[in-house]
Amino acid sequence: MSGLNLLHSNDRQGMHAPSWYAAINPDHRERPALAGTRDCDVAIIGGGLTGISAALHLARAGYKTVVLEAHRAGWGASGRNGGQVGTGQRRDQDYLEARYGADTARRFWQIAEEAKALVRDLIRDLAIDCHPIDGIIHADHKPGYVGHSRAYAEKLQRDYGYSAIRFLDLEEIRSLVRSDRYFGGTFDSGAFHIDPLAFCLGLARGAEAEGAEIFENSEVMSVEEGDRVRLKTSRGELRARYLLYACNGYLGHLQPQIAQRVLPINNFVITTRVLTAEERAAILPSDAAVADSKFVINYFRMTHDNRLLFGGGENYGYRFPADIKAFVRKPMLEIFPQAKDIAIDHGWGGTLAVTVRRLPLFQRLAGNILTCTGYSGQGVALATLAGRIAGEAIGGQAERFDLMAKLDTPRFPGGTLLRYPMLVAAMTWFALRDRL
Ligand SMILES: Cc1cc2nc3c(=O)[nH]c(=O)nc-3n(C[C@H](O)[C@H](O)[C@H](O)COP(=O)(O)OP(=O)(O)OC[C@H]3O[C@@H](n4cnc5c(N)ncnc54)[C@H](O)[C@@H]3O)c2cc1C
Repeated sequence: MSGLNLLHSNDRQGMHAPSWYAAINPDHRERPALAGTRDCDVAIIGGGLTGISAALHLARAGYKTVVLEAHRAGWGASGRNGGQVGTGQRRDQDYLEARYGADTARRFWQIAEEAKALVRDLIRDLAIDCHPIDGIIHADHKPGYVGHSRAYAEKLQRDYGYSAIRFLDLEEIRSLVRSDRYFGGTFDSGAFHIDPLAFCLGLARGAEAEGAEIFENSEVMSVEEGDRVRLKTSRGELRARYLLYACNGYLGHLQPQIAQRVLPINNFVITTRVLTAEERAAILPSDAAVADSKFVINYFRMTHDNRLLFGGGENYGYRFPADIKAFVRKPMLEIFPQAKDIAIDHGWGGTLAVTVRRLPLFQRLAGNILTCTGYSGQGVALATLAGRIAGEAIGGQAERFDLMAKLDTPRFPGGTLLRYPMLVAAMTWFALRDRL
């Protein structure tokens, strides 16, 4: 079965992805696997940002909290992503206002602002060395999108009092990003980027310092839901009053109600060798990260050691492409043909979860069982905040959980078995749309 389980089909048991992050953050500290039977207040399945942040906040609130992680803390999307800590929800305020009304849209905005602030606070309070650098550029890949970027920057300044964003015209974007593929965009100095694996591992240490326990190499094989939940791993059993599913793209079929609403998508990243000052000036002089306007987003930034980190291309199904470096180099060279002779040092993939409307799924499956998932590619900040919000809900303060649960996240049509063919059709169409 391992070929049909994203927890195992592309990775080696208990090993981080072969990423630049793993190369510079050698994670020597292995944690034990669950063995025997244990009791706790809150069981969390998944040791990514959602699960570890929940553990930190619950442990601070006095709950005996245990995280069960199939591989290593930070092994999933949380330790392999682009590191961009963006502003707002995955869908823009125009969409949220039209769908939920101005007041609710404003609350979603505030939650997203709080998410960014929480990441900054945790980095500071836990002294996490994860190289935060301010600035995200949104780059328009079509001239026709530039008017919207200008209007949207003005709207956020005017209606949301968000002065950190400004419009970039053609000349300015080309001085920051040396590509003729972009025609304008916005510069958001309130957003930032980090080394996500370092952040996640720092959070894990913080959670443990508060008394939470994290077991690694402890895949949950079965869950018996009820007033008292029972989780089984190959060597142990955990019993708890509350349960948080924090598995995101790696959930598989563990919980069918969640699985119907999230789709796993694989996304890929490369880093080049270290660039010279001249090479860098000819590619990406800006320190800001960049995310472009394509439906399958290209995102990139310079690392603190002067490599170009480039994310682009995705696939659907259980297997990553055989040659990830070549797969991602293609969109990289479309944007930066001048990088054609620059060697690629690292290439890796990860799996994220998307929802039909690309808004997160916060769901209460029973009075004592919750999930936060489906951040649709914008989870670094939101997953971190989701952990705190799930912790509040378990503690009886469910206001913000219930607000997030208002985001409607319908089932994918066709059920879990038919989702892949449907998705391939949908995504192929959307990828085509970019080329029209
Ligand atoms: C390549 C890539 C680039 C991305 N870039 C960005 C970006 O730049 N900015 C941004 O905001 N977001 C980005 N994202 C999305 C972001 O990484 C995720 O939204 C976020 O990390 C989700 O965190 P999580 O804790 O919910 O899930 P994960 O970090 O995936 O953690 C889930 C964990 O659950 C564990 N698990 C699953 N099933 C079981 C089980 N049965 N038993 C035990 N453990 C289990 C897994 O091993 C995994 O470690 C990107 C994602 C990918 C893959």
